[in-house]
Amino acid sequence: MHSDIDRIIISQTQLAHRVSEMAAEITRRYHEQPHPLVLVPILNGAIVFLADLMRQLPIRMRVEVVSVTSYPGRSTESRGAEIRSWLDAGADLRNRSVLIVDDILDTGNTLRLVQREMAARNVESIATAVLLRKTSKDHQGVQADFVGFDIEDEFVVGYGLDYDGQYRNLPHIAVLKPSAC
Ligand code: 5GP
Ligand code: MG
Repeated sequence: MHSDIDRIIISQTQLAHRVSEMAAEITRRYHEQPHPLVLVPILNGAIVFLADLMRQLPIRMRVEVVSVTSYPGRSTESRGAEIRSWLDAGADLRNRSVLIVDDILDTGNTLRLVQREMAARNVESIATAVLLRKTSKDHQGVQADFVGFDIEDEFVVGYGLDYDGQYRNLPHIAVLKPSAC
């Protein structure tokens, strides 16, 4: 697996440091909420980020998982997004503050879809946290409130992000060798 990596762009130490900072920012924003915050991680990419982030949020919270597909199979180009499933589609989110958590903001298709779904469920507020944001990409007006790192427009893997289902377990963010994709 490691022989497929061209270079590491964000190290394990940098990730840990920045995720802690983001957790502090999020805690400052939500610590006085009357209801538990609802974290909405977008699977599968957000799993590692979510696990590290939520353990550093000393506030009351719930997790409502949504699964979205946007890079079907062996592709590194976004082809639009589709909701695959909600773990608990009937969860009552009325009057709740919702924080959508995703790995990366690229074309904005995925987040726009989930933000819209949330808006239709009469929630109190919707904010979005992403670990990565591709700066040179057009996000089609979609915005994130909490951003870990701005990166160049190249296809990255690791820390939850995959290529064809693999490499999510890399502890850093890396770029693959052209021969691997
Ligand atoms: P968007 O819908 O904004 O184009 O893309 C968001 C989703 O596409 C992310 O949740 C992620 O799953 C996938 N994605 C976008 N850019 C990358 C990338 O550079 N690497 C990987 N592995 N997935 C990406
Ligand atoms: Mg994803």
